[in-house]
Amino acid sequence: MARKKIIAGNWKMNKTPSEAVALVNELKPLVASDEVDVVFCVPAISIIPCMEAAKGSNINIGAENMYFEENGAYTGEIAPNMLTDVGVKYVIIGHSERREYFAETDETVNKKVKKAFEHNITPIVCCGESLTQREQGVTIDFIRQQIKIAFLDVSAQQAATAVIAYEPIWAIGTGKVATTEQAQEVCAAIRVCISEIYDQATADAIRIQYGGSVSASSAPELFAQADIDGGLVGGASLKPDFGKIVNYK
Ligand code: PEP
Repeated sequence: MARKKIIAGNWKMNKTPSEAVALVNELKPLVASDEVDVVFCVPAISIIPCMEAAKGSNINIGAENMYFEENGAYTGEIAPNMLTDVGVKYVIIGHSERREYFAETDETVNKKVKKAFEHNITPIVCCGESLTQREQGVTIDFIRQQIKIAFLDVSAQQAATAVIAYEPIWAIGTGKVATTEQAQEVCAAIRVCISEIYDQATADAIRIQYGGSVSASSAPELFAQADIDGGLVGGASLKPDFGKIVNYK
């Protein structure tokens, strides 16, 4: 079954709202494509102005994070209905930077994934091993554990619509891209894991991205792999190069 590619930018903590609007306007003509889903995940304060700027284009404006409660005394957090109220359809969950600097765990990732689905927001669920884990040969075991916990109590119907981003931590922001073989091997293992948790139809439907120093030059080979359905792109998503990544063919 053909899966539509999804290419998402993760802007992280970059660009003021006015700079963000300028960047959306600059990238808009460059990322025009009918063939792939294009998402810009931007800082929460820039979601509304970016939505305005992206109107009429193929760009989806997504969030970089979301809390797992509905509302209440959680100073500084963003609730799912705050995102849906302004039209957000995608949210990154469990990025390795959130796990490292903001104490997110597989369990909080699972709570956020379930909450996103409750609100019909598509989670882009991040997973990925450290350099030590790769060197010790435990990458696949580790990723399987992350995936199994992230998808606990998520139905097959929901999982089929999810996006998983495989992002080896050692490749994020380092300029070191995983080899095509390494990226394909892990993305294929993730699909097997999903087939074991659910069934083959769910595994065939779910979209799996590679992320980690993706560039205009590495994208074509990575995205041509059987189990890689696009990318989650950090640094290069803030540059005109993102247009080349989206139009990688
Ligand atoms: C990311 O932050 O998700 C990422 C992949 O960053 P970069 O492309 O800069 O490595």
